[in-house]
Amino acid sequence: MSGLPKMELSKDAVDFIDDGYLIQLLSGPPPERQQVRDIVAKSLNKQALSIEETAVLLRTNEPELLEEVFNTAHTLKETVYGNRIVLFAPLYVGNDCVNDCIYCGFRRSNPLAVRRTLTPEELREQVLKMESVGQKRSILVFGEHPKYDADFIAEQVRTVYNTKNGHGEIRRVNINAAPLDHEGYRTVKSAGIGTYQIFQETYHHDTYSRVHPPNTRKGNYLYRLDGLSRAFEAGCDDVGLGVLFGLYDWRFEVLGLVAHALHFQQRYGVGPHTISFPRLRPACGVDFPGLGSVGDEHFKRVIATLRLAVPYTGLILTARENASLRRDLMKFGVSQIDAGSRIEIGGYTEKEEKQIADREQFELGDTRSLDTVMGELLQDGYVPSFCTACYRLGRTGEHFMEFAIPGFIKRFCTPNALTTLMEYLVDYASPETRAAGEERINMELAKFEDGPVKAELEKRLNRIKQTEDRDLYF
Ligand code: SF4
Repeated sequence: MSGLPKMELSKDAVDFIDDGYLIQLLSGPPPERQQVRDIVAKSLNKQALSIEETAVLLRTNEPELLEEVFNTAHTLKETVYGNRIVLFAPLYVGNDCVNDCIYCGFRRSNPLAVRRTLTPEELREQVLKMESVGQKRSILVFGEHPKYDADFIAEQVRTVYNTKNGHGEIRRVNINAAPLDHEGYRTVKSAGIGTYQIFQETYHHDTYSRVHPPNTRKGNYLYRLDGLSRAFEAGCDDVGLGVLFGLYDWRFEVLGLVAHALHFQQRYGVGPHTISFPRLRPACGVDFPGLGSVGDEHFKRVIATLRLAVPYTGLILTARENASLRRDLMKFGVSQIDAGSRIEIGGYTEKEEKQIADREQFELGDTRSLDTVMGELLQDGYVPSFCTACYRLGRTGEHFMEFAIPGFIKRFCTPNALTTLMEYLVDYASPETRAAGEERINMELAKFEDGPVKAELEKRLNRIKQTEDRDLYF
């Protein structure tokens, strides 16, 4: 591709997506009921599904069987992750981009996009604002542009980690940016990132070429598909997959995500850390026909089917979706959400609540404050968590799975969720949220058997309430 920089691939890079085979798996008569029930039972045993088994779930339309899929997704989430929901907030650093993805507000040919890249001082101001409301986990987002190279990204990560204010600090920084080469990933990893996210956007080859002009960096399907393999080989062992639902058939895309997860499992012995499933949203200067093509009922099946297919991968539901839909969908397997998000470049220091479309990649659906979302999660029986322990204790990639598989995570996740929740209640919560949160903590404590873990947890919760001690994780 003329004029485009050299694109290094991973060792034995391979295009593992066979469109014809995936489409064939999705065609044919509805499956036998027993076949569906056997696959649902396998998931309930926390076993990952094959592409073929996932396709069977996607081919059934029987309401009774779908109800079983939804119920199993809920049960599986409870079994592996308990009732905790991990929280984060995105931070858009710059929206210059050399690509021209036809569905994106940041695409280079969009005349309405207001281009901006945060200066180091502006970045600090954004982080201080986020910390002032209790955010502890963030994902930095960048357009694809030579000026957002690995050194630049690493520098932003360090700035975020070094920006603290009282008890305010960001303890885990994830990245959503363009694919890099091995050296680039090592540079970014050395800055202490958590997850590196790259969304394939669509796994369907023809659609990919249609929406990503070939003379752009993003026009190279295999270079992007291979992006996280290079990241993993360079030491970024927490990787995040994603598809932009609405570009092509949602069932095909679910199979693509599962195929990608299985590719990682087979090749590196560990699955992806997270999967995201953003749906197309209105965007300034974008007129894309796929808007609304994946309805809420189908979107619910996307989440539940992924929950059954990849039991150990975190599922991220973002504030693209509106508040009431998020509230409903969360119970079908979601383990992470963002809250209190602003996605304009420099959005967190804006006085106005109103979104500023020409500085956004797309329009948000849920613009509620962090405290409002915390209050609703507590009301619905969830434990909101800002935990960052696994990643800081090296329980990532393979090490993380060791813990996850035997269910040990519950031994760590719930106590850490409760200590990070108590920090939020003491330092940032409204009186109503604090009252609901302390009640939730007492209910969770009552579920613990008496013993050293419970005693130590109670000690740490009291230390947070009565002293300035913070960040007391297991
Ligand atoms: S989707 Fe990403 S790469 Fe494509 S135009 Fe938007 S910011 Fe650029």
